[in-house]
Amino acid sequence: MEYKADKCGYCGACVAVCPHELLKQVENQIIITEGCDDCGKCTIVCPLGALNSEECP
Ligand code: SF4
Ligand code: SF4
Repeated sequence: MEYKADKCGYCGACVAVCPHELLKQVENQIIITEGCDDCGKCTIVCPLGALNSEECP
């Protein structure tokens, strides 16, 4: 999953939806812990298109 910080509005929606709790919001930054299985839940919920699982290596 790719995160584009310049598109993020820090709404926190992705943090709540990750089943592995890999996403954390720290001030104006989303921290992504390793272990993403590209389930796509955060990608779907992001209103600003800041998360993109299709560009995952
Ligand atoms: S793609 Fe799924 S596992 Fe990866 S960070 Fe998003 S919600 Fe979590
Ligand atoms: S859902 Fe999108 S805009 Fe909201 S905090 Fe997550 S990456 Fe940023």
